[in-house]
Amino acid sequence: MTKDEIIHHLAHTPLTQLLQQADQVRKKEVGDEVHIRGIIEFSNYCCRSCLYCGLRKENKNISRYRMSPEEIVQLALDIARQGVKTIVLQSGDDFAYSAQTIATIIEQIKQKADVAITLSLGERNFKDFELWKKVGADRYLMKHETADPNLYARLHPGKTLTERLKAISVLKTLNYEIGLGCIVGLPGQTLDTLAEDILLIKQFEADMAGIGPFIPQKDTPLKDHPPGDLELTLKVLSLVRITNQTIHLPVTTALATLDPEQGQLLALGAGANVIMPNFTPQRYEKNYNIYNNKAKVTLALTKNLIKRAGRKSGQGKGGSLKCKKLPKD
Ligand code: SAM
Repeated sequence: MTKDEIIHHLAHTPLTQLLQQADQVRKKEVGDEVHIRGIIEFSNYCCRSCLYCGLRKENKNISRYRMSPEEIVQLALDIARQGVKTIVLQSGDDFAYSAQTIATIIEQIKQKADVAITLSLGERNFKDFELWKKVGADRYLMKHETADPNLYARLHPGKTLTERLKAISVLKTLNYEIGLGCIVGLPGQTLDTLAEDILLIKQFEADMAGIGPFIPQKDTPLKDHPPGDLELTLKVLSLVRITNQTIHLPVTTALATLDPEQGQLLALGAGANVIMPNFTPQRYEKNYNIYNNKAKVTLALTKNLIKRAGRKSGQGKGGSLKCKKLPKD
């Protein structure tokens, strides 16, 4: 699809038509399985100043926490015992965890549980990424947030889109399965930008992509900006499925927050095939408030949702499906 075609779909194609097409592609290319990834948000310290995010370092209104390595490993093993085959370790960009500390956490989980590990720790250097891959990390989720370099620079003081994309390229070189993704509804974003987002995901041959609406957070500079539009978010999600047929697409928690009644079901009908229930202990979780009223996605709710959608829970680790098809002779 060309950029103009994508813009046309975003502006004029009825949502129902895109949903139908995305659902057909999803069924044919990745089937009815919905992969469950258990996420642990182990630290809400962050050295960045992203204008939209409640974890930004300037926010003095959240109570900061760090889980100890032992706590993280125990929790990961507990999640694995509940049958979840992927553990996602996420935090703010928190350099208090040295590369070696993270490596030890990965090693200890991998030694004791047969799970895939996805990291989502923000931008680190080549050596850190290399070490974590060597000790067993499988995937890395680093949303590009927006493909517009000027908007990116405005929203991420002191940072550039080029740096972000370079980090993603490094992860790809190191053979991580990579996850990109964007926020829909950022101030100043246009349909042109969203088309660029969709094309960027394609260009990077991403293994997964997180597409979620912007949700305001009360202690950030964007606190008065309206949330992203549900229909537009679903259109972007559908178009990512249509243009990246075997990609893994999570039902984002932001979508569940934007529309607590229908958001997740709608996403499953728009090409999504992954859900990430949250296992962060309650005493910490309430402080990982990247945006207002963040939805609580539990394992029980997730399993129930999969049933309601007429789908089935994924049995394996749900690795990348990109190489599933052999090239034709
Ligand atoms: N530090 C890591 C990083 O930068 O990739 C991971 C943690 S960060 C909090 C996880 C994601 O939260 C970001 O990629 C961003 O898309 C999302 N996020 C933060 N604030 C948001 C908001 N107000 N609305 C929607 N998504 C938001």
